[in-house]
Amino acid sequence: MPFTSLVLPLLSRFGLPAGAMLPEGVASSIVERAQEGILVADMRSPDARIIYVNGAFERITGYAREEAVGKNCRYLQGSDRLQPAIGRMREALAAGEGIQVRLRNYRKDGSLFWNDLDLVPIRQGAGPPAYYVGFIRDVTEPVVTADRLESMRLTDQLTGCPNRDAFLEQFARRMAGARVLLVKLDIARFNEINGGYGYDIGDALLKAIAERLGTLGADLVARVGNDQFALGFALASDAAAPELLERLHRSLAERFTVPGADLQVRFAVGFVTGAPGADARMLVRQAGAALADSKLSPLLRPCEFASEREAEARHRLQMTAELQRALSANEFVYHYQPQVALPTGETVGAEALVRWQHALFGLQTPARFIRLAEETGLILDIGAAGLRDVARYAVEINRNRARPLCFSFNVSSLELTHSDIVSLVRRVIDETGIDPAWLTLELTESLLAEDSPEMLGIFRRLRDLGIGLSIDDFGTGYSSLRYLERFPLSEIKLDRSFVCGLPHSAAKRIIVEAVIKLAGELGARVVGEGVEQETERDMLAAMGCGFAQGHLFSLPLPASEFSLIAAA
Ligand code: C2E
Ligand code: CA
Ligand code: CA
Repeated sequence: MPFTSLVLPLLSRFGLPAGAMLPEGVASSIVERAQEGILVADMRSPDARIIYVNGAFERITGYAREEAVGKNCRYLQGSDRLQPAIGRMREALAAGEGIQVRLRNYRKDGSLFWNDLDLVPIRQGAGPPAYYVGFIRDVTEPVVTADRLESMRLTDQLTGCPNRDAFLEQFARRMAGARVLLVKLDIARFNEINGGYGYDIGDALLKAIAERLGTLGADLVARVGNDQFALGFALASDAAAPELLERLHRSLAERFTVPGADLQVRFAVGFVTGAPGADARMLVRQAGAALADSKLSPLLRPCEFASEREAEARHRLQMTAELQRALSANEFVYHYQPQVALPTGETVGAEALVRWQHALFGLQTPARFIRLAEETGLILDIGAAGLRDVARYAVEINRNRARPLCFSFNVSSLELTHSDIVSLVRRVIDETGIDPAWLTLELTESLLAEDSPEMLGIFRRLRDLGIGLSIDDFGTGYSSLRYLERFPLSEIKLDRSFVCGLPHSAAKRIIVEAVIKLAGELGARVVGEGVEQETERDMLAAMGCGFAQGHLFSLPLPASEFSLIAAA
């Protein structure tokens, strides 16, 4: 039987109806002229010899028909026999099945070509296939192009190093389950080098750095940013890390000589060690955080990543989001701590103290969140909403009282310096109808120390609105008594530290006496804070302090409970 007719059962490959009856001449010219290389192997012959190849086969492989016929197909792979596809092909042949594989094959001149091979079994009756017809297609060009694109995708074109993507992709493989050291480097003042010497020298320097980093025995060196490199070391033991860092340090301290310049370059260095199998992305991020620390240190000290820092940063982010949510969910409420007139013990007012009524964690005191609220600026919104709430509450409490109660509201420095507190207070007065005389803002001593005309102007305009101004925690800051004279204050709150143990400390008595005397001269009243003992109360009263608050009288109370006291 002519060999080409073996191919005829596969007529549909040539766009002909299966089973078409073709004169032998037509069939052989179709097979002979096909674009695909075609070979036929006789499976019944020893070593499954090739019995036919067509013209395209000759062109693709470079072997003439006489050279191919009589050989086993595998001669095309030469010694490159460890290809996984070969194993799969062998299994399919043993099972008498067809298979499509992509193989590295070699032409007669030894050059490699990628071969998409489609093997089709031809049976003649029962039993294993009598023949296999192989269709071969040279796919070298697309494969090589794809390879080249892939390698371009993963290579930094300037230095030839892996780039950031490659670093992340290859990290796990190269570290092979060892403990790892990941170092990130940033060239100090690289912009100035580019600016001063020109981009050619900048580029040459980057290449020289990449080259030198390549000599340090790192398992992976990559250029991960414009002027940043990353190195990955698989560690034999943890003790190896300091030595590697030292070697890196010494190596980078050497000058870099490039055509046209001889440069001493300084580097910021951040590093992190990780457990076997640690996620590359995480390590890169952590080394990056350490690198940022290094950049901030005066001598570009190499910095190790500290895990608490990240935990803290994460916690802050979560808390900030939580605070924002709490604000829109109205979870901030005020508790009221009564203030009493010392001679009589009568409640004359209250300090509003913010609380966070958290859905899951219950009532949170300011210590848990005020600092963060100040640092993120959220305090501006919390304070603005709170002032309105407290003013409304004051109006409600005083509606039926013959002698109205006064309410103090804490204002942090940020609210005075970063918001228009005067307008806010004016709006709150307008909106709630509160008598300004019922409202006192408590400010911190540090604002006085600023002693600027602007700050003084804000104080004046607030006082002009008719509200009171109080200096909180007086005596704990750096301000001297002299500042008090310059500011239009209506009240001084004597810090708890002076009240606590007052009866037993001559020094405290002298200070408290001086404050009370000065306040008297300025027309300001004094409130003793944190009074817990009757002896403290009695001594304050004896020294002429007009007002006090503290646990001796009452804890801060929820609005509903304070309302009961106010009504009594
Ligand atoms: P502060 O203004 O000095 O408030 C007095 C703090 O002392 C309150 O703590 C109060 O509960 C506590 N205290 C009262 N009496 C006694 C006592 O006899 N003994 C002791 N040991 N402590 C007493 P709280 O409520 O935890 O507030 C802490 C700080 O948080 C306040 O100190 C204030 O600086 C700030 N804060 C409270 N509410 C606000 C607010 O609405 N806005 C702003 N910006 N800060 C606030
Ligand atoms: Ca206060
Ligand atoms: Ca205070």
